[in-house]
Amino acid sequence: MRDNSCQLIVGWGEDVRENRGTESAYAGAHKIWRIASGFYSLLAEGKNRSGANRSLSMTREQAAARIEELRRLIEYHNYRYYVLDQPEISDEEYDRLFRELVELEQQFPELITPDSPTQRVGAPPLEAFPEHTHREPMLSLDNAFSEEELLEFDQRVKRFLDLPSDAELEYTCELKIDGLAVSLTYENGMLTVGATRGDGYRGENVTPNIRTIRQVPLRLRAGENLFHMPPAVVEVRGEVYLSYQEFERINREREAAGEPLFANPRNAAAGSLRQLDSRITARRHLKIWVYGVGYCEGVEFRTHWEVLQQLKAWGFPVNPHSRLVKGIQAVLEFCREWSRRRAELDYATDGVVIKVNEIALQRKLGATARAPRWAIAYKYPAEQATTRIIEVRWQVGRTGVLTPVAVMEPVPVGGVTVSRATLHNIDYIRQKDIRLGDTVIIQRAGEVIPEVVAVVMEKRTGQEQPIEPPSTCPVCGARVERVEDEAALRCINLACPAQIVERIRHFTSRHAMNIEGVGEKWVQRLFELGFIHDPADLYYLHQHRGDLIMLERSGEKLVSNILNAIEKSKEAGLARLIFALGIRQVGEHAARLLAEHFGSLDALMNATEEELMQIPGIGPETAHEVVEFFARPENRQVIEKLRAAGVKMEEKRERPAAAPFAGMTFVFTGELEHYTREEAEELVRSLGGRATSSVSRATTYVVAGPGAGSKLQRAIELGIPILNEEQFLQMLREAGVSPPTK
Ligand code: NAD
Repeated sequence: MRDNSCQLIVGWGEDVRENRGTESAYAGAHKIWRIASGFYSLLAEGKNRSGANRSLSMTREQAAARIEELRRLIEYHNYRYYVLDQPEISDEEYDRLFRELVELEQQFPELITPDSPTQRVGAPPLEAFPEHTHREPMLSLDNAFSEEELLEFDQRVKRFLDLPSDAELEYTCELKIDGLAVSLTYENGMLTVGATRGDGYRGENVTPNIRTIRQVPLRLRAGENLFHMPPAVVEVRGEVYLSYQEFERINREREAAGEPLFANPRNAAAGSLRQLDSRITARRHLKIWVYGVGYCEGVEFRTHWEVLQQLKAWGFPVNPHSRLVKGIQAVLEFCREWSRRRAELDYATDGVVIKVNEIALQRKLGATARAPRWAIAYKYPAEQATTRIIEVRWQVGRTGVLTPVAVMEPVPVGGVTVSRATLHNIDYIRQKDIRLGDTVIIQRAGEVIPEVVAVVMEKRTGQEQPIEPPSTCPVCGARVERVEDEAALRCINLACPAQIVERIRHFTSRHAMNIEGVGEKWVQRLFELGFIHDPADLYYLHQHRGDLIMLERSGEKLVSNILNAIEKSKEAGLARLIFALGIRQVGEHAARLLAEHFGSLDALMNATEEELMQIPGIGPETAHEVVEFFARPENRQVIEKLRAAGVKMEEKRERPAAAPFAGMTFVFTGELEHYTREEAEELVRSLGGRATSSVSRATTYVVAGPGAGSKLQRAIELGIPILNEEQFLQMLREAGVSPPTK
């Protein structure tokens, strides 16, 4: 195992990008195996539930073997992440491996060794940079992956401090910036060293690169100093990061230069800060948020909140969303708020850092080998995941552009399960050498649509197939052309995709199947993403619930409403369905006539032109179009899909025997509480009456609700009886129809 791993390391050395120097990367890699810190584990204090069952059933020998395997795996991924800035698996997957190791070590404490990744922070510094020893260690943070684990943290802290379990501690809540940690040393107010975290004790001295970050003060602002004098020595701790905008700009540039793209802003920030040439760093526009002090000589702080205020006063950027709260419930609120609002930010955050506010209490709590006991990182559900591509579909957009979409084995990302991700275009596929059957990393970046960001080359089996662009449009079969100067492939039949979108939009519209919430934008989007190709696909959307939630920031509720509206529309009735199919010449009125005459879609589908022309109101042109429409196999296919989904295709023709509204004409105006206007009109018709939209002397009743306008006015002028909704409901009850309860 170890030999294999070492061989792999030599292989990775060749991967070291930019000008960080291959030799030093080898050296750094080999050092990983040698390094052994003498610390003991207190990590086990945090109870971890995931995977516990698995470890419970293991014998000591099995556990030892698995522990060994996990350590090798984690070391391998640490190296890729911390040294090469080229992670190969998602953070979620890494965290899973890490937790499994923690759990096994908890169960078999005698197997803990000082070189276990659970006993250490990060990775040793690259030898390409001068080494810097931190005066106070830069630790990592323990993680909480659920609210329950936050509550456990709160209880653990109180037990440790001998406080009652219902005591309400003061906590600071700070956004957890997804960048890389740095320590800035100021001596007598002047910046002397900027260093990375490294293994927590020794980092890389990257001072020239830190100096390129405009927000880092080279001298502390003294006038604002709460303590009047700058401290003799202070280590300011913060996170260097890249905005999404800058990250995208850098990747665009790298793409143009044919260089490999950075997987995420964190890797890009790390790669930029750890440059041997600080002119390159300067071009990357790195930023920083500072969040604490390490070693500090000459100044005593009482609370962490005070630390943040002082840092601001010294001229550092301190994240404005930090909040001081009392009690763990307020912490949970903050976490909920920011897991929702994180998309508003122009930089990546992967959670919330919660710290005990009072420094005296922090001191009492102390730290383990890896992390302080007075702080915890609540991690948002992961936004990256690893899965396999099982199919590639080429989606045609409104303008005819063909976009490759990977259909993948479903995988949870950020709390929802997704099965599709964009591959952007054929150049992107070629550049990243993405193949059918590949194991890939997908992520939700600034955008809401997940994308495939990298192939896990080590998982290649040789069975993967290259992805070839189609030569004809997968929708209409027309020729596909590559647009000059663009990576895009286009279907030359510009009408094709637009027609489809238009057809589906018509199908969902208010007078057709009346699917609330599925308007033009949604139809366009769902079509472009490959969820719907024809109206019938709408009824299968519930199978992609997870993917849909990802599309809209408004999330679950909106998607549930839409799926409910789609489900409800199955009962819309035959007349609406016929109209919704979009048969030329068949408007609402003709659709109703056809529905009334045939009573079922099957009967209509089998009708001849002659039969159709027998119906009063149906002319030869309409009859011809109807027959033409149902003769096309693709239309019949859609109808079969609708049928299979349970869309109602028959009209109940059992009219109330006496047709109580026969001879009456109703006009509805204003809002009704119990029905939409269309529903009320249909009800009137089903009871043998007529419903029209304008008031005339032929009108029997005008039903007016709140907001009624000119029609009500006209009814008054003409002396037509006016009913309020309750009076109309009463008429319905008398006709044997009980209105819905609202
Ligand atoms: P971490 O990123 O989970 O948390 C600790 C760090 O949070 C601190 O060092 C600091 O840099 C940062 N931080 C951001 N905002 C902060 C704030 N307001 N206050 C305090 N600290 C703040 O821990 P880590 O040790 O840096 O990294 C471990 C994590 O890195 C893993 O959980 C995993 O997600 C990821 N990782 C991934 C891979 C991979 O292959 N994908 C490999 C190694 C590590």
